[in-house]
Amino acid sequence: MIILKGAPVSQKIQADILQELAGWNLRKIKFPHLSVILVGEDPASSIYVTRKEDMCKKLGFSSEIIRVSTGISQRELQNIIIDLNKNSSVDGILVQLPLPVSISAREVLETIDPLKDVDCLTEKNLGKILTGHPLVQPCTPSGVMEMLKHYNISVQGKNVAIIGRSLIVGVPLIHLLLKENASVSVFHSKSEKIESQLKNFDIVCVAVGKSHAFKYSQFKHDAVVIDVGINRSSKGLTGDVLNDMTEGKNHIKAATPVPGGVGVMTIAMLMKNTLALAKLRRNAYENLES
Ligand code: NAP
Repeated sequence: MIILKGAPVSQKIQADILQELAGWNLRKIKFPHLSVILVGEDPASSIYVTRKEDMCKKLGFSSEIIRVSTGISQRELQNIIIDLNKNSSVDGILVQLPLPVSISAREVLETIDPLKDVDCLTEKNLGKILTGHPLVQPCTPSGVMEMLKHYNISVQGKNVAIIGRSLIVGVPLIHLLLKENASVSVFHSKSEKIESQLKNFDIVCVAVGKSHAFKYSQFKHDAVVIDVGINRSSKGLTGDVLNDMTEGKNHIKAATPVPGGVGVMTIAMLMKNTLALAKLRRNAYENLES
């Protein structure tokens, strides 16, 4: 079984970014800036935003984490975003999810200027995925696609299953896979008899948010398994698929590890998107000046 690690793919993306920024440096163009808003003190979310900030530092981006308490009102949170929208130094805005239940995540995300929406979560940008022309692609689904490409796993004509239909992972992934000519099936919590259908798929992407909800032996022989899940338990981080190295090892062709798989890619794609949006904004200014 091939282990599809995220690190080599992330390193390649980082190298490409650094190469591009070397050119920016020569032309004295201001490096990208990412603003991340963290509501509350959820330990997992705190770790994620710190990793994002560390990666920004590594690449020379400027960044800030705006930490606010869970007591913040939706209006106050939206006002922070409105200020960031107006701030010409800010290229990308990311609201770390989940938000407290008292706040409408949809309304908050909708406040982000689509031109600064680094995770492609506004309705305008999600809609652009359907037409095939998004400004940037959502970080996790595009990280999955980048990983498949890196490991020469073609999806064209393949039967691909996505288990999970969230707007962050499953739904955009449907369209990114369709664009690459995969035949896509989607399963969710209301799907009946999922287990009996799993052996029909060449590639399975699992994003249900339930530790070890599936195991390798349930999939087709020689399947590729992309485990998007990140679950925290007393055993540490676990995926949605049991990392079964005994029974599963000889059964499937390849799988992403957790940790060290898709999660690594999400951060790399966030950097790629921040650079892309910064580039759009810099080019827009240059066009205005000329
Ligand atoms: P979510 O919003 O809770 O969505 C979960 C989806 O899974 C829903 O569509 C749900 O169906 C479906 N589902 C739940 N249990 C199921 C089951 N037993 N069988 C089939 N479908 C089931 O979660 P999410 O935000 O997409 O995240 C999913 C997982 O990915 C989590 O572990 C999360 O931490 C992880 N994640 C990782 C990254 C990364 O960087 N690697 C990024 C984002 C998320 P319904 O729609 O019917 O409720």
